[in-house]
Amino acid sequence: MDKPGKLIPVPTAETAEFWAGCRQGELRLQLCAACNKYQFPPQSFCRHCSSAELSWVAASGQGRVLSCTVVHWSPNPAYAAEVPYSLALIELDEGPRMLTNIVGVPPSEVRTGMQVAVVFEQCSPEITLPKFKPR
Ligand SMILES: [Zn+2]
Repeated sequence: MDKPGKLIPVPTAETAEFWAGCRQGELRLQLCAACNKYQFPPQSFCRHCSSAELSWVAASGQGRVLSCTVVHWSPNPAYAAEVPYSLALIELDEGPRMLTNIVGVPPSEVRTGMQVAVVFEQCSPEITLPKFKPR
């Protein structure tokens, strides 16, 4: 029986531009022309006002940790070599929230309120994951 591999995101029509940005080292968000709010994850209409006037813009890549935990064990053996690792909910300076990993610091040292900046980690030719490190 094959062991389960890592869970690699599959781009969709709505997320392809986000993943293209990550491959180029740019964190992209959708910006609504009608209400001037940013959104993530991507979707075909604005979650604030339902407008379809969305454009893609480069985000600052900076934010802060809202909540965090340390993962000590994974049911998926593909992640066994990576525990313990930090799993965190961050709020980007532009407003949207993102579930991600905090890297570059021991997981036990990640704190809520910590200021973080995006870093990119390639995991396949198509997918580069945005992760965050303290700034
Ligand atoms: Zn809107």
